[in-house]
Parts: sequence; structure tokens; C-alpha cells
Amino acid sequence: MNANLATERIESATAAFLQRPHQLLIGGQWVPATDGATLEVINPATGRAFASIAAGGAPEIDAAVKAARKAFSAGAWPKVRAAERARLLYRLADAVEANADEIAWLESLDGGNPVGSVRHVDVAMAIDSLRTSASLADKITGETQLAALQSDGMGYYVREPVGVAGLITPWNAPFLMAVNKIGPALAVGCTVVHKPAELAPLSALRLGELICELGFPDGVVNIVTGLGSTAGQSLAEHADVNKISFTGSTRVGRSILTASAINLKRVTLELGGKSPIIVLPDADLERAANAIGDELCFKSGQFCAAGTRLFVHRRAHDEVVDRIAARLKGVKIGAGTAPGTQMGPIISEKQLDRVLGYISSGSSQGAELVTGGRRIDREGYFVEPTLLTSTRAEMSLMRDEVFGPVLGAATFPDADLDQIAALANDTDYGLAAKIWTRDLRSAHVLARKLQAGLITINGGGAHGRLPFGGFKQSGLGREGGREGALGFTEIKSVSLGY
Ligand code: NAD
Repeated sequence: MNANLATERIESATAAFLQRPHQLLIGGQWVPATDGATLEVINPATGRAFASIAAGGAPEIDAAVKAARKAFSAGAWPKVRAAERARLLYRLADAVEANADEIAWLESLDGGNPVGSVRHVDVAMAIDSLRTSASLADKITGETQLAALQSDGMGYYVREPVGVAGLITPWNAPFLMAVNKIGPALAVGCTVVHKPAELAPLSALRLGELICELGFPDGVVNIVTGLGSTAGQSLAEHADVNKISFTGSTRVGRSILTASAINLKRVTLELGGKSPIIVLPDADLERAANAIGDELCFKSGQFCAAGTRLFVHRRAHDEVVDRIAARLKGVKIGAGTAPGTQMGPIISEKQLDRVLGYISSGSSQGAELVTGGRRIDREGYFVEPTLLTSTRAEMSLMRDEVFGPVLGAATFPDADLDQIAALANDTDYGLAAKIWTRDLRSAHVLARKLQAGLITINGGGAHGRLPFGGFKQSGLGREGGREGALGFTEIKSVSLGY
């Protein structure tokens, strides 16, 4: 198919989706909010509303939890064998793959990211993630303890599904985050209530449509769109939810933990980051600088594991800074659906103001602006990718998660690995850390010294199936691969006397 025809086909599939009402999926039915309330969905590239969704709240969350509980305890789901759960998840992966371009287009309109990157990063990873979850469905096992010689019995433990899982996700990678939670939860036999982010909810609703078409029993997957302070809070507080898996800000993560205390829910938190990048003087500086610049623009810097604090050896500092600045100046900025766009808008006006506020506070505290720093004069919420040098650890720019394309650089005088690690670890967060060096010894010694859940060396390789999560205030627990699936299980030990 030629490119124009393909784009027309995707646009018309998206238009068809946009014309359908965007309701709540509860107990296998699409329903409006009981009071008929809706929320507008804004395209961040234009600043204009292009869809509306149902605004669920406490009553709708309660109905969804009841449907999920019923499906967990009665009906077909408890009788569905692990191999059949795997088959359903493989079919879902195939359905997502068949609709991947449309999902990417929709998510690009909704969240603003370049459609190619959504398709080949987010949606591609989501398809892999679903297949990984499917492959794990019949491999989550317990262990048998051999009886000691003198004992008259045996013991074993099994892993059972934790029950009804509440899944709350952010707007920056909505489809991937939804799949990363729904897949493992279903694989081990849980039922779920998913609350997508109100700022980018549409791809989760499209996922809900595909789930409905594939024969998952009613109530196994429920989706309630709505505000965090109402729908999200009600889900976190609900006494009949056994587990909350949350991805979002550290601030809301704390309130989820408090709300979950009501019935001691199991909790997994994937939170914010302020990840260091360390460039040792022996690194391939050109490769490092290009990758650092590209990563800063990925999702317009709205990416939890983004490297935002750059520490470069003083000998390499000027070359690295010049190269990154040149890379950033060449980035093509525009609407995510426009051909050739490399960096899209910030998600909202409020978030854009926050990003600009951090840039100006950094400058007023003495950081030097090398490139960027301004809002782009066009419709929508666009900001230039920004690099500041001469930063200090106490600047709010270097302490807080900005969640925009803003990089603060500093130097270190010698290559003492303890001192470098101390600089990098001087943060409340601990999600990721990045190392650039040609010296494998330094790379591995530093990797052990850094307090972060994901260390990437020279840009990293495939880490899709590695567990992912944070040290310190970046989270609690791990997602991804087998570890992620185990997080939706509860251990039961059985002791038997002969
Ligand atoms: P957010 O915390 O504002 O919202 C996340 C979700 O929580 C949304 O669905 C929101 O509606 C809901 N929510 C808000 N208040 C709530 C409440 N009181 N109770 C229950 N739910 C509530 O985060 P965001 O702005 O959507 O996303 C950006 C944040 O997500 C950043 O901090 C980023 O680092 C983090 N994030 C982390 C990861 C990770 O894997 N660690 C991945 C992506 C994003």
C-alpha cells in the first residue's frame, strides 16, 4: 500500500473511533457516567478539544469493582485454565499488532508524541509485553520443600492471584502502561479495574474495545475514565480492591499508599525520577552527546527514566555540551502526526508553564542557558529543548522532576568513582542512571555504586523484560517480566503431615 493510502486508512479508522461515544467499560458493557458527566480531551498540539470521555467517579468505580469481584469469584474466569489465559493474551497481542498504526495515531493526537515513535516504541513494546505476559501465564509456580529426613510430612507453596487489581496510569505512555499492568494481572488470574489518565485516555478505551471483541469474560477488564481526585482516589480507597498498581508522580504515589492503608492493599508504585547521566572522559563523546540529546527530546522529556542531570568530566565538558546543543538545535518540532516531527508538544498549558518556571528559576539561580529556554510561538504547548550549564545540586531545576525537555549540566574534576557516584546519588529519586565510558571496569564499579533501579551503560541494550522500578522515592516494587507478574500474586504455603 502506498504511504498516502496507508495514512488515509489510519486516519479514517481513527475518525471512526472518535465518532463513537467514549464510555466506561463495566461488567462487559459500555456505559455513560451515572450523572452523564464528561471531560474534554485536548490535543496538545493545538490546545483544542477533539473528543470527550465519560467522567466516572466513586459510584462508577464501585460498580466496576463489583463487576471485577464477581468475575474473579464466580462466572467463567476462575475456571479459565492458565493455558487459555495465555491464548487470550496472545490473541490480544495479535489484535493490537493488527491495529497498531491506528492506536499509534490516536495516541499521538491525544498525548502529542511523534506517531512513528509511539508506533515503534510504545505500541511495539506493548505488543512484546502482552506476549511476555501470555508466556508467563502457565509458568508462575511455587516450590516444594523436601521433607527433612526425620520429619513426617512435606510442605509446598503456591502463588494465587491477588484478587481484584486497581490499575492507575499516567498520560505520558498511556497504552504501554495500561498493557504493562493489564497483561501480567490477567496472566496470573486477577481481574482488573483500570483508571487511565484523564489527559490521554483514548488509547486505553481502544484497548478496551479490542478486549471486548476477543472473548474475555465480562467483568475481567473494567475501564473507568475520570479525574484522579475522584475516580483514582475512590479506586485506591475501595475496600474490596486487593492490589493497586500505580504509575505516576511521587506526590500522588504517597497519597495512594495512604489510601491503600484502609484495607492494607498490596501496592506497586512506579514513580518519578531525576536520573543522572555520567560521562567519563574516555567515552565516545559524539555518540554519548547524540544519544543524550535524542533522549531529552523523547516524549518531549516527559519520560520517567529521562536523564536530566548531566555530570561530565571537566576535560570533556565543553565538547559534550557543544555537541548536545547542536543536536537539540536541529530537532524538528511539531504536531506528533505531522510528517518528520521528532519532538511534539508538552501535554498541557499547566505543565508547559511548570517547565518554563524551572528554566527561569535555574537561570535566576545562576545556571547558564546554552540553548532553548523559550515557549515556541505557535498554537499548542511547545517549548524548545533546553540545556543549562553551571548548575548546582541545590537548584530546584536539579532537585525536582521537571518532566520536560530540560537538561542541567555540571562537571566533576577527576574520575574518582566514589565522588562521581556521590554526585549522582544526591537526589531523592532513584529510577535510572546512565553511564558513558569505554572502560568496562569503571562502568561496572559505578553501576554497583549508583542508587537506581535501572542502570544503562553506553545507551543500554534490550531491557524490555528486565524488572523495572525505582530505588528511594522513585517507587516500590517492580514491573516487567516475571517479577512484574509475581507482583499480582499472593503466596500460600501448605504444610502436610503424612
Ligand atoms: P499523576 O501522578 O498526576 O497521575 C497519574 C495517575 O494518577 C492519573 O491517572 C491520575 O488521574 C491519577 N491520580 C491523580 N491523583 C490521584 C489520587 N489522589 N488518587 C488516585 N489517583 C490519582 O502523574 P502524571 O502527571 O499523569 O504522570 C507523570 C508522572 O508519572 C511523572 O512523575 C512520571 O515520572 C511518572 N511516571 C513514572 C513511570 C515509572 O515507570 N516509574 C512511568 C511513567 C510516568
